[in-house]
Amino acid sequence: MVNRWNHFINGVECSPEKGEYLNSYTPQTGKVFAEVADGTVEDVNAAVVSASQAFQDWQEKRPIERGRILLSIATKLRENVQEFARLESSETGKPVWQSPLEIEGAAAYFEYYGGLVNLFQGEKIDLGGNYHSYTIREPYGPIAVITPWNAPINQAARGIAPALAVGNTVVAKPSEFTSATTVNLAKLALEECGIPKGVFNVVLGEGKKAGIELVKHPNIKKVAFTGSVRAGQEIGRIAAERILPLTLELGGKSPNIVFEDADLRGSIGGAIRAFILNAGQICLAGTRLLVQESIHDSFVKGLVAGVANVKVGPEPDCQVGPITTHSQYERVCNFFDIAVSEGAKIECGGTPEKKDSWGEGWFLPPTIYSGVTSDMRIAQEEIFGPVLVVIPFKDEEDAIRIANDTEYGLAAGIWTNNLGRAHRVARKIQAGQIYVNEYQAGGVETPLGGYKKSGYGREKGIESLHCYTQLKCVTMKI
Ligand code: NAD
Repeated sequence: MVNRWNHFINGVECSPEKGEYLNSYTPQTGKVFAEVADGTVEDVNAAVVSASQAFQDWQEKRPIERGRILLSIATKLRENVQEFARLESSETGKPVWQSPLEIEGAAAYFEYYGGLVNLFQGEKIDLGGNYHSYTIREPYGPIAVITPWNAPINQAARGIAPALAVGNTVVAKPSEFTSATTVNLAKLALEECGIPKGVFNVVLGEGKKAGIELVKHPNIKKVAFTGSVRAGQEIGRIAAERILPLTLELGGKSPNIVFEDADLRGSIGGAIRAFILNAGQICLAGTRLLVQESIHDSFVKGLVAGVANVKVGPEPDCQVGPITTHSQYERVCNFFDIAVSEGAKIECGGTPEKKDSWGEGWFLPPTIYSGVTSDMRIAQEEIFGPVLVVIPFKDEEDAIRIANDTEYGLAAGIWTNNLGRAHRVARKIQAGQIYVNEYQAGGVETPLGGYKKSGYGREKGIESLHCYTQLKCVTMKI
């Protein structure tokens, strides 16, 4: 029997008002995994009403009480890691070793913000002896947390944990392709951790229906959106009309820069992990590899040899799983054709050819192109699959120029043993997160967000709590 995922509103599971469901699939097999409620304006309204009614009591709780509930969610998530991981792998296709790490990452957000909220305070402003002036950080009210399919529970937790910690209530809208773990997280929070009903609601369905209705709803006081630039722009237009506070965590085409003085073995391994993790379906993925001319040819040889050892498929020991949605699978295949038409050299992969063990699953081989120039589409557009383009550069200045030659600005990697160069280049790269000698270093504590079309606002770290609160200043004449 196929599973059914319903909305979770005001502490109960609710079938969609119009009774309609969408199919979601298991990418490992291409078969239907579940039916997912296809939310409409009525469902969205019920969820927002519930979040509005719960707001007053939730915001008035002491931070230490809200924090305790968040810490309990972290503990319970860890106790149920295998169950959540199974669901996460079924609907995203992530290899079985990877999903428990995603659940652990989600738990870490609740743990971090559950503790941090106790230290998050306003400030006293010194105006001399005749005045007393101070700031208060206040929650917005009901917040919409809209998330994509590539890391469903992790990204849901990244927005929901800080939003709840500072006293907002939440209506989460996960991707229609990966709804299960967010619904189960809301149930767990209510049934096992004591979160009051209405504080954490989940409405399911498509972006163009449920998602848009949520953003338009007058009682939604802030939107935290993670997803594509296209959807971010649509949401931004509605938000502009409503003067609605917005955090946009959008796509990337992040440069990973290898200088000739880098530790070559370490940087080859790092460059491979940066583009194959989660089959390249990571906003931060290091998919534009900039290699100094003097080491370019041997580096590419090393990459190809390294990728030859990467296992792709459904087996538990594979590093690379399938593409999560069929339309995304087709989009990546289309980039294989674009690369050929642009004259890039295929170093490995580059075809949708199937292996027997892949069956009907949406697997693709790790693909590397050399002979790429910065003006090509494969160097400019976010492919969101296991595809790496290699671009040579002459010197530091050239590397910085190419690295910044993109509409995006989410992350960048720098591989060098020259300390001065590492800091110089880090300052000049236009991106929100920079890694030196380890791609995607950091954790829940390190703020994340975009420059340029990668978005604005910050998630993670203490910065996130600023983004989920509004600042009031009180000044009194004594
Ligand atoms: P998407 O924009 O299609 O969808 C993301 C979410 O928004 C889904 O829940 C979807 O239903 C909803 N949505 C879509 N259109 C909407 C609209 N007009 N109004 C309201 N909601 C709408 O993105 P996707 O294909 O699910 O995810 C892939 C994209 O997400 C990539 O571009 C990736 O880089 C980006 N992403 C960014 C980050 C980050 O932290 N910066 C993290 C993960 C993924």
